[in-house]
Amino acid sequence: MAKCPLCGKPLDWGELIEQMLTIDDAEDIMKDHKKFMEAFEGFVFKCPHCGEEFYGRNLPEKEAEKVFELLNEFNGSIDWENKRVRLRLNSLLALDTMLEQWDKKVKG
Ligand SMILES: [Zn+2]
Repeated sequence: MAKCPLCGKPLDWGELIEQMLTIDDAEDIMKDHKKFMEAFEGFVFKCPHCGEEFYGRNLPEKEAEKVFELLNEFNGSIDWENKRVRLRLNSLLALDTMLEQWDKKVKG
């Protein structure tokens, strides 16, 4: 799971994405994989625990890609009016990892 590179506390993906929703063309970015990854890597996030700032590229890229997929998989995953993420991204990511491991076990 994503952790703050400075204080090491766990980060909530929903909160991170909400920070990105303030970008001017966020609606376009959230629908385009390439644009999203570029914006994500260069975005300056602020840790809610220690208040320090860091770039998105310091966070796990694989999780960011999954987050992009999840946001696009579910209709209404983002409440644009209130700039809120409606999905519980951390729970969904945890579930996804669990299913992947289970899948490996079954196939292996
Ligand atoms: Zn921190």
